[in-house]
This record gives sequence, C-alpha cells and structure tokens, in this order.
Amino acid sequence: MTKLTADSVVYIVVHCSNTKPRQKVDKAYMERIHRLKGRLWIGYHYVLDRKGNIETGRALDQIGGHAPGFDNKSIGICMAGGLDQAGNRADNFTEVQRENLLQLVAVLHRQFPQAIVVGHRDLPNAKTECPNFDVKQFLQESGYVQPIHGAN
Ligand SMILES: [Zn+2]
Repeated sequence: MTKLTADSVVYIVVHCSNTKPRQKVDKAYMERIHRLKGRLWIGYHYVLDRKGNIETGRALDQIGGHAPGFDNKSIGICMAGGLDQAGNRADNFTEVQRENLLQLVAVLHRQFPQAIVVGHRDLPNAKTECPNFDVKQFLQESGYVQPIHGAN
C-alpha cells in the first residue's frame, strides 16, 4: 500500500467538523461519523477539540480520507466547530484551538517540509466552504511563514 512521505505530501489540509460550539467533538466522534459514511477508520490524521486537545487519528504515513483527489498527497486536520448556535457557518474557533493548530503545523512542517497549509475549500475545484474560515489569512495574521511550495 502506498504511504505518505516527505516527498508526496504537498498539502496540510485544515477542515472543520461543521458542528455547534458546545457539541463535544473529538476523535471518537469523528470516527463514528466517518464509519457511518462507510470508511474503515477516521479519515483525518488529527482532531483538535474546542479545548485545543490534539488527538491523533490515522497514522501519519497512512493515506487519509478527507479531501477527495488529494488524500494521497496531504495530511488532514479537523478543527471541532465551524457552526454557530443557529447552525450557520461561523469562524468561531477557540483561541487555544487556533494556537495549537499553529503548533501542530509547525511540527508537521519539520516532517513534511514542502507541504503548504490550506483550508479544504482552497484546494483546486473543492466544492465546500470547509473549514469555514480563511486559513491563509489566519496564518498571515499569526505571522506564520509557509514553506516555498516545491515543484508541485
Ligand atoms: Zn473539509
């Protein structure tokens, strides 16, 4: 089976769970959702809950199931949240969640130096609003420097 490697991973894709702020969303929750959709395991490599806890989903060298067409070249991170109390899309992720996202991508960049961080909706031809916030703008405002994209 093909594995993810430093050469093959060109995207770190940020997703959201499309759930309301108070809903408890963790790895176990996302695993249930993905199994209901017919997958054998959780599709994401990481889940960040509202308190900023980071849980590992799929092993880092395993191809995930989170961004059709890009799974074989990306790591998938899911941020719990993305909807307001009324169920509308909202950029209301917690402060600690955002901070820990930055920490996580910094660590991932050591292992996958040529990967750029994008929101799911930023992928070519993505038909989604996920993760319901502007990842590039967030990174810029946080002073996060993306690696120069490789030959891809
Ligand atoms: Zn997504």
